[in-house]
Amino acid sequence: MTYDVLIIGAGPGGIFSAYELIKLCPDLKIAVLETGNALNKRKCPIDGKKIKSCIGCKPCSIMNGFGGAGAFSDGKYNITNQFGGTLYEYIGKNEALELMHYVDKINLDFGGEGTKLYSTANTAIKKQCLQNGLHLLDASVRHLGTDINYVVLENLFNHLKDKVEFYFNTSAVKVNKTDDGYEVITEKGERFTGQKCIISGGRSGSKWMETVCDDLNIPTKSNRVDIGVRVELPAEVFSHLTDELYESKIVYRTEKYGDLVRTFCMNPKGSVVNENTNGIVTVNGHSYEDPAKQTENTNFALLVAKHFSEPFKDSNGYGESIARLSNMLGGGVIVQRFGDLITGHRSTPGRIKESFTNATLAATPGDLSLVIPKRILDGIIEMIYALDKIAPGTANDDTLLYGVEVKFYNMEVSLDENLETKHKGLFVIGDCSGITHSLSHASASGVHVARHIAQSLL
Ligand SMILES: Cc1cc2nc3c(=O)[nH]c(=O)nc-3n(C[C@H](O)[C@H](O)[C@H](O)COP(=O)(O)OP(=O)(O)OC[C@H]3O[C@@H](n4cnc5c(N)ncnc54)[C@H](O)[C@@H]3O)c2cc1C
Repeated sequence: MTYDVLIIGAGPGGIFSAYELIKLCPDLKIAVLETGNALNKRKCPIDGKKIKSCIGCKPCSIMNGFGGAGAFSDGKYNITNQFGGTLYEYIGKNEALELMHYVDKINLDFGGEGTKLYSTANTAIKKQCLQNGLHLLDASVRHLGTDINYVVLENLFNHLKDKVEFYFNTSAVKVNKTDDGYEVITEKGERFTGQKCIISGGRSGSKWMETVCDDLNIPTKSNRVDIGVRVELPAEVFSHLTDELYESKIVYRTEKYGDLVRTFCMNPKGSVVNENTNGIVTVNGHSYEDPAKQTENTNFALLVAKHFSEPFKDSNGYGESIARLSNMLGGGVIVQRFGDLITGHRSTPGRIKESFTNATLAATPGDLSLVIPKRILDGIIEMIYALDKIAPGTANDDTLLYGVEVKFYNMEVSLDENLETKHKGLFVIGDCSGITHSLSHASASGVHVARHIAQSLL
């Protein structure tokens, strides 16, 4: 099985690198190896009736398969250098933005036409935030919505499937250097060879990526982990922000410790969902464009970034341990009313049922102060009171907090401006490179590498 280019992972990074390679060099022989299933076979068994919480399928249909971790996501493509990754540090701010706009255009061409592009430009909300110690980051946000995002992926797959060879349920276990390129050995013992190899394993491939770097002696540096909660409240409380901006990325510096707390992944009229990363259940959220699927609530995460210095290197291990604690106490995700947290009470099933905010995720009522480190929890509480000033009702007793939300970051792989490792022809893109953390940045990194490879081959 000999190819010109091997791509490992069919998430946004892998998809967009395949798309651009085929566009620029239609005769290239390309194989995409993917641990998970084809899009139409990706089915999470949680139905809310027979199966209410994560049963740890392997591979996980939410995280693995065509479309990657983003397949059932809200499809929010943030076009900005202010968050979502540090791709611009490698390729420059202008090119990073140009590539994100390019990806946006492809998404529109493949079914996203008619979806809304929100922007923070000239918004009065910025001033209101500043007057209350909050900072609104600049961005344009294309909101595809979970349903349209799926259609776009379906169309991209149909476009690629006859031009690229997809191998689903095929996990790469080893990448070796050969005389004229790379060989990839899979779990089933198959051997694929390619002149160039692009690794785009995403967050779920992070542990494996570490072994690749160890084997091939590629330098890495340890990264950060973000820990926090998902907040759920009546949609009306945030409607003046979400109607205008859809997603607002707001940062707050705590008075107590000077830590930065930020909003993340805002889902107007959305649902809170479980996320399973390497067997650990954490919380996330999404929303639909289709009004029939919308809820009466808005949810968003409040996260605190933890950076570690020597000698500690395992920032993800730290995040995992905290998430494990919530899994140990609650059997999965824990939910607590803000009022119960402030008064030092564990939320009970009865109190959650009586709450005026109806929970959209069946999580275990509990006490987040037994799980989340004090410094982080204090910061989150401070930010909830700060947000209450621009969105009164945020600090209501019935506001629900789900924990733990953890954003794992891959260690940063040492790459040059072409996202190439020290081994010529071996590229690392998307979230598994440690330099992107979002759909738009991961996709843009795929296009960037494809253009470089095409240029070198032509
Ligand atoms: C529930 C949820 C909601 C999200 N919502 C948003 C959002 O609205 N906006 C946003 O910007 N970001 C969002 N994200 C994050 C976003 O999905 C990721 O940043 C993005 O998918 C990263 O793309 P990627 O291609 O780097 O990796 P991934 O999308 O993770 O894809 C990597 C693929 O590689 C495969 N793989 C891993 N290891 C191997 C291996 N050894 N062999 C073969 N295949 C392998 C995996 O199965 C996976 O399919 C969300 C994530 C989740 C989980």
